[in-house]
Amino acid sequence: MSSKTTFFIANWKMNGLPKNYKEINKVGAFLSDKYKQFKKIIVYCPPMSLLTYFSKKNTSKLLNFGAQDISVTQLDFGPQTGSVSPKMVKLGGAKFVLIGHSEKRAKGDNFDTIKKKIISANKTNLKIIFCIGESLQDYKKNNAINILKKQLSKSLVKNLNFNNLIFAYEPIWSIGTGLVPNEKYLNKIFSFLKQYLKDNYKINTAKILYGGSVSADNINNLKLISNCSGFLVGGASLKAKNFIEIIRNYYT
Ligand code: PEP
Repeated sequence: MSSKTTFFIANWKMNGLPKNYKEINKVGAFLSDKYKQFKKIIVYCPPMSLLTYFSKKNTSKLLNFGAQDISVTQLDFGPQTGSVSPKMVKLGGAKFVLIGHSEKRAKGDNFDTIKKKIISANKTNLKIIFCIGESLQDYKKNNAINILKKQLSKSLVKNLNFNNLIFAYEPIWSIGTGLVPNEKYLNKIFSFLKQYLKDNYKINTAKILYGGSVSADNINNLKLISNCSGFLVGGASLKAKNFIEIIRNYYT
């Protein structure tokens, strides 16, 4: 468990105030303690309004920051009301960006939008956390693999720097619901993704994360998923106590 690098990504969604920096600070303090020996990458993705504030306030070298989205345009700056470009989030302290999250797909991000965002994030050298996953309906119809193939093939182009790509398998029906797929199902999906990315994009060691209702209680089961490089955590990342418990349980 301890020899590979494990990602713990905190997605704060549309939550957080400047005073909540204390939650991040507590996680930084915890990491500098005895968990220093483990290879792990912790990334906080706060809302855009807090990204620069948090990243400037942070003093821990063990914490990284990411944006929850970027504009679809490849422009660095320009007449795009309401948009924030990849360059701007980088200047704001982000090294990572979430793309394709189901909550953004539900608000209109389609395959083409996601493809364009991936291309511009890649050009800016942001590390991309590319979220994919099936709906409850597709899960029930046993159609997840077809959905995943479509999500990958329609939004990935061949000449990306695949070292900058991290995949997050997030079944939509598991996000924020407390429902988590069983181990057999997850192993089947992760093994499919690993093989598919190797065969179609020559990614030999794909980094694939699991996301969906991850908690301190279920991490002991989730850490058994083969080929899983870490976790994307929503609700349970808001409070330091819960996030720390997830990390602690993962390593014990
Ligand atoms: C998420 O926002 O990507 C997520 C997985 O949320 P939660 O952990 O709350 O299900």
